[in-house]
Amino acid sequence: MKSVQIIIISFVLLLTACHHPKYTASPEKIVGQLRVGFDVDDTILFSRDNFLKALSLSDDSGHLDYGWINMHDSVYSVLIDPVAELIGFLRAHGHEVYFITARPGTNGEAVGRYLSKELGFPIVKGQNLFFSPKEKDKDSGYKYTTKHELITKLGLHIFYGDSDNDMVAASVAGIRGVRVVRDARSIEDYSPNYFGDIKADSTAGSPYSEAEYKMFLIEGVGPYGETIFPIRFISK
Ligand SMILES: [Mg+2]
Repeated sequence: MKSVQIIIISFVLLLTACHHPKYTASPEKIVGQLRVGFDVDDTILFSRDNFLKALSLSDDSGHLDYGWINMHDSVYSVLIDPVAELIGFLRAHGHEVYFITARPGTNGEAVGRYLSKELGFPIVKGQNLFFSPKEKDKDSGYKYTTKHELITKLGLHIFYGDSDNDMVAASVAGIRGVRVVRDARSIEDYSPNYFGDIKADSTAGSPYSEAEYKMFLIEGVGPYGETIFPIRFISK
């Protein structure tokens, strides 16, 4: 009987020794600690080239294969340094950082691995990295961001993002949205959903020209009343 107990205890000790705790974000709010959210594309990652390559190189040529895109940030995406520095600043002061992207989550673990390597702390799908694609309401027909649901669930206080949808999600969740200025190369390729669409002909749905967009930047306030994070460049 005693030998059975020794075997069980030894087995438990072995399991304990082999156990590497996964990263877990604080489950409960800590007084004084901020919980800050970041979008991924054009916020922490300049990923335009990854999306452009996906159109020609993935098996699903001509379509955006997000399973492929999520696997190739390490090849084609780069960090946006001023945002990486902001994340380092927040973490150095003990605050929690989360990522919420509208990409579908197929192979999303690879995005976490890449961000972990680049930012130097564990970023794990489902723990501090979340995939939250847009949905379409079958009754109203509206396609809408679902990020606000995660913002509320995670108890975030501030959300940084480049797109109009990021600002809407923050507003619907009742927190401060901060607009990260989209890189000029991304504006060239993906102008929709950015101050309406500053590259489109002036219509009621996209009234802001590039000149007016620059006025927003100078004033530091966007069309939703959001603060604008003053990025003037990105480095590779
Ligand atoms: Mg984005």
